[in-house]
Amino acid sequence: MSSQDSPKGRRGGQFPLRLDQVSAPAARRLVDPDQVVPPGVVGRKAAPVGAAASSRLVTPPAHQPMLRPQRPVSEAARDQRLVHSPSGLGLDSAGVRRRMVERLQQGGVQDPRVLMAMDAVERHAFVDTALAGQAYEDTSLPIGLGQTISKPSSVARMIELLCQRPNAAAESPTPLGRVLEIGTGCGYQAAVLARLAKQVISIERLKPLHEKARHHLRALHAHNLRLVYGDGMLGHGPNAPYDCIIAAAGGQNLPQSWLDQLAPCGRLVAPIEDARGGGQSLLIVDRLVSGELVHSTQEAVHFVPLKSGVV
Ligand code: SAH
Repeated sequence: MSSQDSPKGRRGGQFPLRLDQVSAPAARRLVDPDQVVPPGVVGRKAAPVGAAASSRLVTPPAHQPMLRPQRPVSEAARDQRLVHSPSGLGLDSAGVRRRMVERLQQGGVQDPRVLMAMDAVERHAFVDTALAGQAYEDTSLPIGLGQTISKPSSVARMIELLCQRPNAAAESPTPLGRVLEIGTGCGYQAAVLARLAKQVISIERLKPLHEKARHHLRALHAHNLRLVYGDGMLGHGPNAPYDCIIAAAGGQNLPQSWLDQLAPCGRLVAPIEDARGGGQSLLIVDRLVSGELVHSTQEAVHFVPLKSGVV
C-alpha cells in the first residue's frame, strides 16, 4: 500500500474536506469497473460424436465409422473425465470461493473474521446468471443501471480497515458494531458486513437496485440488516451514530452528514476524488474519544460516482 500521508493521518483536519487536502492517488487500483469482461462460456465440453450414415442392409466399408446410437460404456467413462464442472456454481462454488479467499490472503488481507465472512457469502448469487462463472474472479461486474458489484479485494480490504478502527475489540465476532453503508448496489457487500456487525443500515438511491438487493438478501435472513431507499449523501439520521461508515461510491467531498453521524471511536472509509489528478483515493476518517476527527489517505481506487437525490 502506498500513501503520501503518514499512515497515522493528519490530526484535526477541517471538514468537509477540501479537494486539495486529499493526496494524489498511489499506483494500486482497487476497483476498476472498466475491467469488466464479457461473460465467459461456462459449460460442458461436447462429447466426441462419431457418426456417419450406415444401413442394416449394407455393410459399410472398413474406413467408415458405424452409426452407434448408444455409446459403449468404456467411452462414456472416458467422456466423463473430459467434463469440466462450471466454476462458481452449484456444488463447486464452495471450493472456488475458498480459492478466492486464499488469493485475498495472499494479497494481504489478514483478519480471519473478514476472510471467514468472504468465504461464507455466495457472490455468484448477487450477479446475473450469465456472469456467475466470473463471480469469484477479482473483478467488478455489471449489476445494471451502469453500476457494478465491487471487486472482492476491495470489499475485503475496506472491511478489514473498518475492523481496525480505534479501540475495536480484537476478538469480537461483531467488530464493526453499528454500520452505515452508502451504495447497496446488488447487496453483496451488505451481506458480508452483516456477518461482522451488530446492525447494518444500507442505503441505495436507485430504486431498481434497492429492490434487486432486497430480492438477493431475502434468502439470507440477515435480521441485523436493513435496506433503505434514499439519498445516502444525507446519511441516515434515525439510526445514527454509527461505529462504521462505508461508501461504495466516491464524490468530490465527504458529506458533512457522514461526519456528524460518526460515533466516538468510529471509522469512516470512503473513496474521494482527487482534485489534482482527477482519480480517486481511499480516505479513512477516525473520530477519537475526544470527538476530534483524524484522517489519512490510502491507495488509489476507482469506484462509481457518488450522486445526490433518488431515482
Ligand atoms: N455495495 C455494492 C457496490 C454498489 S456500486 C457491492 O456490494 O458491490 C455503488 C452504488 O452506490 C450504486 O448502486 C449507486 O447507485 C450507489 N450510490 C451512488 N450515490 C449514492 C447515494 N447518494 N446514495 C445511495 N446510493 C448511492
